[in-house]
Amino acid sequence: MAKPVILIVDDEPQVLNAVERDLRLHFRSDYRILKALSGSEAIETVQQLKRRNTPLALFLVDQRMPVMTGTEFLAQALSIYPDAKKVLLTAYADTEAAITSINNIGLDFYLMKPWDPPEQNLYPILDDLLSDWVANVPIPYEGIRVAGTLWSASSHNVKDFLARNQVPYQWLDIELNKEALALVEAVNQEKHSLPVVFFPDGTTLIDPSTRELAEKIGLQTKAAKPFYDLIIIGGGPAGLAAAVYGGSEGLQTVMIEKEATGGQAGTSSRIENYLGFPQGLTGADLARRATTQALRFGVEILRTQEAINVRVEDPYRFVQLAEGVELSGKVILIATGVNVRRLEVPGIDHLTGAGVYYGASLTEAAYYKGQDVFVVGGANSAGQGAVFFSRYARKVTMLVRGSSLEAGMSQYLVDQISKTPNIDVLLHAEVMEVHGTNRLEGITVGLKDTDEVINFPAGAMFIFIGAMPHTMMVKDVVERDSAGFIITGPDLMVDGKRPRNWKQNRDPYLLETSTPGIFAAGDVRHRSIKRVATAVGEGAVAVALIHQYLRSV
Ligand SMILES: Cc1cc2nc3c(=O)[nH]c(=O)nc-3n(C[C@H](O)[C@H](O)[C@H](O)COP(=O)(O)OP(=O)(O)OC[C@H]3O[C@@H](n4cnc5c(N)ncnc54)[C@H](O)[C@@H]3O)c2cc1C
Repeated sequence: MAKPVILIVDDEPQVLNAVERDLRLHFRSDYRILKALSGSEAIETVQQLKRRNTPLALFLVDQRMPVMTGTEFLAQALSIYPDAKKVLLTAYADTEAAITSINNIGLDFYLMKPWDPPEQNLYPILDDLLSDWVANVPIPYEGIRVAGTLWSASSHNVKDFLARNQVPYQWLDIELNKEALALVEAVNQEKHSLPVVFFPDGTTLIDPSTRELAEKIGLQTKAAKPFYDLIIIGGGPAGLAAAVYGGSEGLQTVMIEKEATGGQAGTSSRIENYLGFPQGLTGADLARRATTQALRFGVEILRTQEAINVRVEDPYRFVQLAEGVELSGKVILIATGVNVRRLEVPGIDHLTGAGVYYGASLTEAAYYKGQDVFVVGGANSAGQGAVFFSRYARKVTMLVRGSSLEAGMSQYLVDQISKTPNIDVLLHAEVMEVHGTNRLEGITVGLKDTDEVINFPAGAMFIFIGAMPHTMMVKDVVERDSAGFIITGPDLMVDGKRPRNWKQNRDPYLLETSTPGIFAAGDVRHRSIKRVATAVGEGAVAVALIHQYLRSV
């Protein structure tokens, strides 16, 4: 932990240096001694320290200073470090001011100048105050802090990005935490942009993009090489498995991920059916382990990069990124999975991120403790979400369009839901409208069976209503089905004939698309089984097929 600070403020350089010398002699090993020649200079120092979350233990301040007296300085500094000990350096004539300060600002002590010998007149007093401070003040958090409001969509996006990239952070809600509000106001300069992200080095980012955040926290965003054996698009389970096998089997591999590794699985609160984890594991844990494994095998993982186009110039394949750069390689694996389907009802757009969330949004769950939460959807992901939120919420209501949970959900989840007393299931139910000014306040639900329309007050609504494949970047180069999923292997053969323009003297490999050397794995594939294990399996199989392909070119 960074050493706590003792800040001395005195406008007379000689006195300032003398106090500093005495304090260093006695406190140097446990405290950093800083000094300032005026109240305004000291306020600046205090603000900087706060931005870094450096603990400040004690102010030792001269009462008699021009422009800002010691008491006036302490009154301001206290809004930033309310727990720091406050000591005034006074002359005999300042006694009255010091006594007033005890009443007004809770002054801890006033010292008469001169304080010689310090062993008798200075150290015992400060030792006592500092030991009290150490005993009562919690050690401050030393990592990244995100300050914002629960209802700001951009605050949610930043927290979600950090969480999904396994970067620990501390959340400061400025509506509940006055110190955090003061901190935000000090850097925001009247602008009301949120969130403000504070880094341990004292720097801040205001309402940053995910790219800015990724670069600041040291995630790789740019490719290091001009050419790769294998370019993987998408960092979900399929992409990660291919990265681990590709990297470990000696292929120069790069993986492009537009958000965070782990894909949909990374947002899952608990994956219970993945082989080898009898207690289940969180999606975040799976993503962290797999990402570490891929990096260990030398795979480059480019985060916050979106692939927008793929083109072929035989024998090479090219991937264009949204920022304009193009990567080239011998083989491409499309593992872009699916995008969540959006719920289109009046009022939803401006409340997304402010009470309305797509997916399980694990970062937010704990904030809805004791509130009424709605889960929209009837498949496994909705079921998992409902079970997860039931641990926090007062009540979880599942809104399911179909006539039974069993129709779209694994039996183990149906059983879990029926055994959870604070989960209600409304069948034949559809969200018609959502309400709220700055945050979700209520939803209107239509019940098909009875034609009833009900308005519910709602703390949060989590939506799990299916997904669409993310394949626009290959629309001109590979065959897709009518829903946009990529067709591979035997599914490309129609009446025993190979795809149009297929020039190879062999059928397409199992996971190969209609363009040789471009493969697809996981949820993005036509007729794929939408499971973590199958995506992982396909990622691994794809690499074996890629080796076969590479031997033939
Ligand atoms: C909430 C939830 C819970 C689930 N629970 C389970 C479970 O318990 N058990 C189970 O077996 N399955 C579960 N699933 C399903 C499982 O997560 C998916 O089947 C699996 O994640 C599919 O993996 P994938 O790699 O094919 O695609 P995805 O996981 O969708 O990953 C695709 C990745 O590609 C990235 N990407 C997309 N387009 C681009 C682009 N243009 N450029 C760069 N990157 C791009 C995306 O950001 C994403 O990270 C769950 C799904 C959800 C949503």
